Amino acid sequence: MKPPLCVICYKEFLDSDEGGLVYFKKRNSDERWEKMMSEEDLIGHPPYADWFCEKHYTAAKELQNLPLNEAVKILNERFPKE
Ligand SMILES: [Zn+2]
Repeated sequence: MKPPLCVICYKEFLDSDEGGLVYFKKRNSDERWEKMMSEEDLIGHPPYADWFCEKHYTAAKELQNLPLNEAVKILNERFPKE
């Protein structure tokens, strides 16, 4: 598993924090990843899911019908880095 870091602001998660993992629409490559992982009997961090802190979690949830890369692009535009 990836260490829990918000993919938008890179804030590290603490036990007390809200927010969490958001699963996005699977791309073809994600379907292939899932098939490969189940065939090889492996467990890993899904490429179509990522962590969001409490500040970005709700916005991320609203975009979960998009593939991860598109959603992150939109969120990075909506929440510019300082
Ligand atoms: Zn964040």
